[in-house]
Amino acid sequence: MENNRIAVARAMKEAGITQWGVARYADVLPLLPVRAASRLPKNPRSVIVALLGYYTGEKEHNISRYAWPRDYHLLAQQLMEPVAEQLRTAFPEQTFAVFTDNSPIREVTAARLAGLGFVGKNGLLINRRYGSYHFITEIVTDLALIPDIPEEKSCGDCRRCLDACPLGALSPEGVALSRCRSHITQKKGELQPWERKEIEKGALAWGCDICSDVCPYNQKAALTDIPAFLQAVESQITRENLPGLLKEKAFGWRGIAVMRRNLDIIDPPCSNGEETGE
Ligand code: SF4
Ligand code: SF4
Repeated sequence: MENNRIAVARAMKEAGITQWGVARYADVLPLLPVRAASRLPKNPRSVIVALLGYYTGEKEHNISRYAWPRDYHLLAQQLMEPVAEQLRTAFPEQTFAVFTDNSPIREVTAARLAGLGFVGKNGLLINRRYGSYHFITEIVTDLALIPDIPEEKSCGDCRRCLDACPLGALSPEGVALSRCRSHITQKKGELQPWERKEIEKGALAWGCDICSDVCPYNQKAALTDIPAFLQAVESQITRENLPGLLKEKAFGWRGIAVMRRNLDIIDPPCSNGEETGE
């Protein structure tokens, strides 16, 4: 099993991924009921979890940090498929299935079990290098691998994220989505007046970073060391650049109507005489 891990380490190094680990498949159960579960190997044994840091520094912005680089679904796929391919070549009898988001694996749990950090009171995985500014992606395989040991760490007495959430959406039970600004920016159609007000107060047309930004582990988060996350970084959307950005950013799946609505809320067209183009 030692050699199997060495092969994974080599493939990760070539992909430029520094934060990875292994969890036992049996430990990450139960699965989430998503269609992608049909791609799992027949006899899964290990989950190889990787973190992709996305922090690119401080900039004026009107969208959540994670949406500044190109769509992470595409970038994660581009980074992890070559890793899986290299492992398929090294172990032709085994199966390697890459998942990014929409995964049957409970990713935060798997990352914790893979020794990549601890779960904060904001529900995010806190990693030594990236804080919580990272995406989680994984390869599920029937290859036997020595698992990592989870960290014995926790938030301790800190409760900055709980106290900072403007809507009190965080609790030990998790995030109450209906009261989370990030979730509200993703809602389609007409919003209730209080929901519009919350987007306006947050001044972001997509997402909410408050419970991440206040975390002490994010104050010292490392800039991403993955070159693809440094290319085409765009921290501000405007009526002009929005149509082009939809094709390559994480908010594209929500469609232009939602993004235009949010932009109009935080930057009303009549306030500066701009046309919306609608
Ligand atoms: S994203 Fe914002 S609104 Fe949602 S839980 Fe975090 S701080 Fe609260
Ligand atoms: S802000 Fe404090 S309580 Fe919240 S996740 Fe970070 S360390 Fe934990």
